[in-house]
Amino acid sequence: MSADAVLSLRDVSRTYAGGVTALAGVSLDIVRGELLAIVGPSGSGKSTLLHMMGTLDRPSTGTVHINGHDTARLPDRRLSALRGRLLGFVFQHFHLTDGLTAAENVATGLLYAGVPRRQRRGLASEALARVGLAHRIGHQPHQLSGGERQRVAIARALVNRPALVLADEPTGALDTATGHAVLALLHRLHEEGTTIALITHDRDIAASLPRRVEIRDGRLVADSARATAQVGTR
Ligand code: ADP
Repeated sequence: MSADAVLSLRDVSRTYAGGVTALAGVSLDIVRGELLAIVGPSGSGKSTLLHMMGTLDRPSTGTVHINGHDTARLPDRRLSALRGRLLGFVFQHFHLTDGLTAAENVATGLLYAGVPRRQRRGLASEALARVGLAHRIGHQPHQLSGGERQRVAIARALVNRPALVLADEPTGALDTATGHAVLALLHRLHEEGTTIALITHDRDIAASLPRRVEIRDGRLVADSARATAQVGTR
């Protein structure tokens, strides 16, 4: 494991009840400052891999380290705390709460980080400014466009300065132009130092990112950061 690995998977497999092996022996390191795509067709195991990377589910076999912490050693409560502190999530369908303003939605990203209420609002405003939405702080999700909603969700993922942002098909619910704008934002955040893993079935999106990891039938079959011949051999 590289010393500055924010995420390290070793031989991770996940078999579901009923015997479906969704992941089979996946090893992957992500180091600080990377922007990478994890690309594969529907059913290849991307969601399952995202759940492993995001500590939302535990592997059947293999290990997951986040910033050097062996997640298998942590009971669920401590694992939730680690997730809240070190990971940020962006979803295809935004997952914002209606009835809350943009600032309040972003501040929910700090709920589990022990940040006092007074500070949450200031940090939420700063995060919204980073994604170009300083003028939408008091708007509710239904008053925002799809692209603006995804920016709010990105601000929520960033507000806690996570070690790694996991973005699951972040442009999947957006029209092409809006999707490009969201991708441009992710590129800018990467240039500013944010570490981002983007999960997608879209090969064009994957091709636009500095590193591409390809998954098929639950296995990593290519990694542009490594010689292809090495992938899968140990
Ligand atoms: P993707 O996100 O690339 O579409 P998934 O990780 O959702 O792939 O699925 C990989 C494989 O695991 C598929 O064959 C899928 O049917 C199966 N699978 C996913 N989740 C479950 C589950 N909870 N129970 C049983 N099989 C599952």
